[in-house]
Amino acid sequence: MSALVETIELTKHFAMGRGRTVHAVDGVSLAIAEREVVGLVGESGSGKSTFGRTLVGLHAKTAGEVRFAGEALPSSYGPADFRRHAANMQMIFQDPYSSLNPRMTVGEIIGEGLRLAGGQGRAQIRAAVADWLARVGLEPQHASRYPHEFSGGQRQRVGIARALILKPRFVVCDEPISALDVSVQAQIVRLLGDLKASLGLTLLFIAHDLSMVRYVSDRMAVMYLGSLVEIGTADDVYFRPKHPYTEILIGSNPEPNPRTERRRVAVAVTGEIPSPVNIGAGCRFASRCPKVMEVCRRVTPRLEPLADGGARRVACHLYTSPAAISGST
Ligand code: SF4
Repeated sequence: MSALVETIELTKHFAMGRGRTVHAVDGVSLAIAEREVVGLVGESGSGKSTFGRTLVGLHAKTAGEVRFAGEALPSSYGPADFRRHAANMQMIFQDPYSSLNPRMTVGEIIGEGLRLAGGQGRAQIRAAVADWLARVGLEPQHASRYPHEFSGGQRQRVGIARALILKPRFVVCDEPISALDVSVQAQIVRLLGDLKASLGLTLLFIAHDLSMVRYVSDRMAVMYLGSLVEIGTADDVYFRPKHPYTEILIGSNPEPNPRTERRRVAVAVTGEIPSPVNIGAGCRFASRCPKVMEVCRRVTPRLEPLADGGARRVACHLYTSPAAISGST
């Protein structure tokens, strides 16, 4: 299946002065097929959101490539690039309150993308805004109100309408439910699922809640300290994790369903994610890994397919052949 969106060795570093560099995202290659939902999980500070933002052009990339429908996108976006690519790639943000301009009405917020794109009159934009308010479960009269007049769930509905009114083919959902009450989370996930199906969207779904990510995603990718450590079908990664970090992450995630809870691997979490400043050689997870070996501190594991011939790829020396390890030293 050909990819709609593809990153090739995508890298985002932030210079901190005095020779220090934050390796927020380091050489991430990920291909997402049309209409596929890929869930991206990892602890806070793993680089998930920076990856999503760099992917849609909100951060200028340090190195690597982003391809959309086979076309390489520019390194940093000017206004014309934003206008062109905004129609294809959009983002739904974590905090629906801080991502909505409090001085604009909801109608202005949702319609702003159409206004900036040009080509439509005020009446057309007003009609499109009313249509999108209805699609996300809000009322036409909400267009004249301000963000502070809404609940968290309603504000996220506004954020979704703002992102989708331009009919993008690809949307990065950056923790779209983590700031919401549990009951509202389910409503927003259902809404995203309905819109994904009716519009044929392709999604990168970034979240902390692994059981929710498994529920919404076709594949699940696990990120640790700026790198992908495991990727596979959502059920394989969730129920049969291979990478020690994935085992820990999933073992620490509460599972509400007692039947699926019994199938999970339970492993205790220890330590905190190390600093992403000036990362050295070797496995990034070595300082926390319960299965660490001598080679792990010297040789950086690559994300490679498992020997079983399946679709799973894992970056861990437990699955690397001795020949491949000695070839990389
Ligand atoms: Fe643990 Fe070594 Fe695998 Fe890294 S490469 S996850 S340290 S076993």
